[in-house]
Amino acid sequence: MKIFKSILSFQKEFNTDEKCREHLEQSRWNGTPACPFCGSTGVHRFPNGKIFKCRDCRKKFSVTVGTIYENTKIPLTKWYLATYILTTHSKGISSLQLANMLDVTQKTAWFLNHRIREMLTEKAPQLLTGTVEVDETYVGGSDRNRHQHKKKGKDAKTMVVGAVQRGDEDNASKVTTAIIPATTKENVTEFILANVQAGSNMVTDESKAYNKVKKNYTHDTVNHRAKEYVRGNVHTNTIEGFWSLLKRQIDGIHHSVSPQHLGRYCNESAYRYNNKGVAQDERFAVAVSNCEGRLTYQKLIAKQ
Ligand SMILES: [Zn+2]
Repeated sequence: MKIFKSILSFQKEFNTDEKCREHLEQSRWNGTPACPFCGSTGVHRFPNGKIFKCRDCRKKFSVTVGTIYENTKIPLTKWYLATYILTTHSKGISSLQLANMLDVTQKTAWFLNHRIREMLTEKAPQLLTGTVEVDETYVGGSDRNRHQHKKKGKDAKTMVVGAVQRGDEDNASKVTTAIIPATTKENVTEFILANVQAGSNMVTDESKAYNKVKKNYTHDTVNHRAKEYVRGNVHTNTIEGFWSLLKRQIDGIHHSVSPQHLGRYCNESAYRYNNKGVAQDERFAVAVSNCEGRLTYQKLIAKQ
């Protein structure tokens, strides 16, 4: 695989739409173009090289149909550059910064940012195992830019629950998160069962929401109310480290994030956390290979 040591070498490699399309075709189809409508590989490529026609369902398509990159007026070179910037950046960047870098409007950059975030979401994550810390926190709803009478405090914030598998010599720690409407036993238990392998060693605080955890896991708690934070290996410092990272990214870079988009920002931060050790060009390649499925602008701006 090609190594892009810098954004300049990346731009040199993908400086035309044709080069990006070739790369996307290779990543998506591995040399055998397949119809995105019926899956047939009996397809005909038109002389312009861009458009295909399926011999089975007779539909026409290009390599971007059915992907994150579909149906936009934004050239593929800008999509690729945005994908590279966002997958390799250590903290993520704001729509305003991205707009300046790509010479597009802030609205376009915001849309690109969200679509690429979709690509960073793991489609079938492995269950966490070993020692797993679980905790919840409030995120977003920054009051900083609101007028005094509009300040909403905690009510404007959204509850996020997270689980982190502690790392060891061989594996880095790994996190997963979800938005929950409230910290109830039901919500928390459902999240844990969906994300953590039964039999793992769970560490949480003493909240009653975790009362059911003992059924499927070994369970240790730290008593934060009694100002107990670490008892040997029993602590939730790893997940708390992730929370501070998440909050720095959301409050520091994006300032104010509405609850309907928060899940995507959490996924982005989890992606950065989980891919710390992965080489830049590999991160880009993995993201591109994850481009199936699309998020339309209508869906993005729709109220929940
Ligand atoms: Zn077809």
